[in-house]
Amino acid sequence: SILKLESLRAEVYVPKHFELRVPRGFVAKMSIGDSNDPLLRQVLPDQREQIKVTGYVADPLSENTQNPVKGMLHKYQSRVLLTVTGACAIHCRYCFRQHFDYSANMPTADAKENIINYISAHPEINEVILSGGDPLNVTNRRLFAWLDTLESLPQLTTIRLHTRLPLVIAARLDNALLTRLSQSRCHIVMVIHCNHANEIDALTAEHLQRARAAGITLLNQAVLLKGINDSVAVQMQLSQRLFSCGVLPYYLHVLDKVAGAAHFDNDERFAIELYWSLLAALPGYLVPKLVRELPNKPFKVPIDIYNDR
Ligand SMILES: *Cc1c(COP(=O)(O)O)cnc(C)c1O
Ligand code: SF4
Repeated sequence: SILKLESLRAEVYVPKHFELRVPRGFVAKMSIGDSNDPLLRQVLPDQREQIKVTGYVADPLSENTQNPVKGMLHKYQSRVLLTVTGACAIHCRYCFRQHFDYSANMPTADAKENIINYISAHPEINEVILSGGDPLNVTNRRLFAWLDTLESLPQLTTIRLHTRLPLVIAARLDNALLTRLSQSRCHIVMVIHCNHANEIDALTAEHLQRARAAGITLLNQAVLLKGINDSVAVQMQLSQRLFSCGVLPYYLHVLDKVAGAAHFDNDERFAIELYWSLLAALPGYLVPKLVRELPNKPFKVPIDIYNDR
């Protein structure tokens, strides 16, 4: 009702799991009275989530079977991904982890030791990705403890955080955090998950610029979402807005086929045509890589844009 959207009531429902969650700071970036607001559409539960669509499954990336150690995924040769928390500050309706069993896969104290032992036994690993959930959803104390532990492993050159919090609660990039990250002996990469230029208001821009000034490499990954960012104009605005804050586009993912998100999906032909337009419209460094994640591939798979051309 903050947004004056009484007309939407019939479309909305109250899910039994993965409930509505959106902090006020994110709501403030939406436009009042617009039921098609691109930020609102990312977070508002929609009746269509309940429709079962063939091909859209609970665990599209088979992640439940790819964790050799609790709390860790090792799919890609040189890097491992740690789920440091299951919690997110926001619930995105297209999320591929919305059915993931976090309680069964949280790193406990002994899991931390198992993770360290696993990394030490795999010298090909040089980068650790802190993920989740959202890794910035834990306290600085817990996060710094992870950084201390990881920095003590000589084989690691890079620590990466995948986070949506700079878009949701910008103040989370506080001075203590940025200072600690700037002092790391490792390269720090922060991949933010921004889908639309409207997610970056003045406050978020300021915090991103501070992170940049602290020596953090900033990249963005987005998901191509029907009705939200599936136009050339919106993608151009996103890339340009990111760049103005010191962030380079990294990946544009086509949707993972997760149950409940089919209404966000575009067909691949459409994505490819959009991509050709972006190539024509933007400098190369503002065009993200168009990829699809597949369960058994050791990298994000580039979409074949020459298919049928
Ligand atoms: C996406 C992902 C990575 C990182 O991939 P990059 O191509 O290096 O960005 C690593 N591990 C897992 C399990 C991932 O899903
Ligand atoms: S922030 Fe990321 S992990 Fe959390 S709900 Fe959104 S898409 Fe999923």
